[in-house]
Amino acid sequence: MGWEILRSLGIRKRGPEIISCPTCGRCKINLFDIAGKVEDALLKCPLTIKVAIMGCVVNGPGEAKEADIGIAGGDGTGILFKKGCVVKKVPQNRLVETLIEEIEKYSWTT
Ligand code: SF4
Repeated sequence: MGWEILRSLGIRKRGPEIISCPTCGRCKINLFDIAGKVEDALLKCPLTIKVAIMGCVVNGPGEAKEADIGIAGGDGTGILFKKGCVVKKVPQNRLVETLIEEIEKYSWTT
């Protein structure tokens, strides 16, 4: 992803690290579209947190348990999770905004 390239080049030292699953037959969302929206929404976020975008609720939280926060897709309803634990169910069409709202609660002030 774009940010990872900037980080690896040393241009961007702070800010979220966005990870996503490689997708497979279980994937319930348009993962790359959603990851792009999250990346755009976090462009000015100064927090050093790991954010996961995962394709399915079954394996997503476990596969991304090292992430501070993340979302995973389901059949019409996805989930928000933190450190591998499910926090709440979220309608699929509100996954991105719910994730951003939660990240803003980590005292994102600039
Ligand atoms: S999180 Fe789900 S969709 Fe993504 S690779 Fe794992 S099993 Fe497949």
